Amino acid sequence: MSEQTSPSNTPVNPLRSGIYDTSPLYQNAVMDLEFAGTTMGIDPNVLERLKLPKRALCVNVPVRMDDGSVKVFEGYRVQHNTTLGPGKGGIRFHPEVNLSEVSALAMLMTMKCSLVGLPLGGAKGGIRLDPSQLSRAEQQALTRRYTMEIINVIGPEQDIPAPDVGTDGQHMAWMMDTYSMAKGNAVPGVVTGKPIEIGGSLGRPESTGRGVIYVIEHAIELLKKKNLGNFVLKECSAVVHGFGKVGQVAAYELFIRGCKVVAVSDYFGGIYDKNGLNIPEVMKYMAANRSLKGYPKAEVITNEQLIGLPVDILIPAAIDGVVTKANMKNVKAKIISEGANGPITSEAQHYLESQGVTIIPDILANAGGVIVSYFEWVQGMQQFFWNEKEINEKLAEVMLRSFNRVADNAEKYKCGMKTAALISSVERLSQAMLLRGLFP
Ligand code: GLU
Repeated sequence: MSEQTSPSNTPVNPLRSGIYDTSPLYQNAVMDLEFAGTTMGIDPNVLERLKLPKRALCVNVPVRMDDGSVKVFEGYRVQHNTTLGPGKGGIRFHPEVNLSEVSALAMLMTMKCSLVGLPLGGAKGGIRLDPSQLSRAEQQALTRRYTMEIINVIGPEQDIPAPDVGTDGQHMAWMMDTYSMAKGNAVPGVVTGKPIEIGGSLGRPESTGRGVIYVIEHAIELLKKKNLGNFVLKECSAVVHGFGKVGQVAAYELFIRGCKVVAVSDYFGGIYDKNGLNIPEVMKYMAANRSLKGYPKAEVITNEQLIGLPVDILIPAAIDGVVTKANMKNVKAKIISEGANGPITSEAQHYLESQGVTIIPDILANAGGVIVSYFEWVQGMQQFFWNEKEINEKLAEVMLRSFNRVADNAEKYKCGMKTAALISSVERLSQAMLLRGLFP
């Protein structure tokens, strides 16, 4: 035991069994936090607490399948920190979900909410499954039973789920209905990312992808101001890894700004056109076929080839651990905006930043989703709904303010944007934690 070391090479704490540490995502999140903590001189007692989730609930969810058999799925809801307000974070349906990964994602939510100034803590949930293998009826049964299993830890004032990888507004509607049935009245504030008809917010489905592009625009201006690059978005080329809820909107927002999106990809692989893809057409094809496979007007490439294409902008918008030590040297993009959570490992991030690549980190780049989730929660509590223009303006304002805070901290601490973003989060959060003090 005494020989064992944690990811940061500090001796293992005998009070810890290591159950949270098993995934690379968690190890990276702790390493990043320690690095940011050292850079800013964090209070060690705050750091000690932030390295672990406050609460983790593991559930096994039985579902009667269409053929009459019963399958049991592993599910989780993890609340990392609730100092600033109720837990907030998505529910992920993915075959690689596990306690450690969900805990890491919950930690990222804490950092994200604190960074952008929301009165919310960080949480995440997930079920380990491949949703494409379940029928709609099976998914509904699974979502409802999972909601029932975690019902004691969620609620509008306690912890508010939202969509994440593999889930969407329909899943949120089932969760809201299940929770409301149990409480005896409609409780729209229990989840965000709901369909408009049951209290969803305009602009929520597009918010993450939009935010990913707003921060690219701010980064371009900043590089110009610092004489570090003279990019003009409509003359830039870009690739988007992951053509789902975030990637499609990000690609579309680039396309309408005149930027040449030369490749996009999904789990099957990528499609490439050196003259730029017609993104609205690709989106139509995706909607009709639920995959990019067979798209007729482009060359087929692999996801790995896409990562290495000679472009100005790379948007990893699928899943974590996409740019790693193994392929970081292939990356040629000069600006990376992390649409997904944790797509670049710590090692790859430090290497790319040393090569002059600007990386806009996940907790800033993809925060648009949770920002508009917060607007949805507020609108739901007030029963007063805003129009899309108001929502987009407020979103843009929060993204710009957060970007500027990160840029200022990057300057102050002479560090990359990832570290500066974590410092900005922890500054606010640690003040709140110290003010509230430790109970009892
Ligand atoms: N799943 C999204 C994220 O990772 C959104 C979370 C939310 O809206 O609560 O940020």
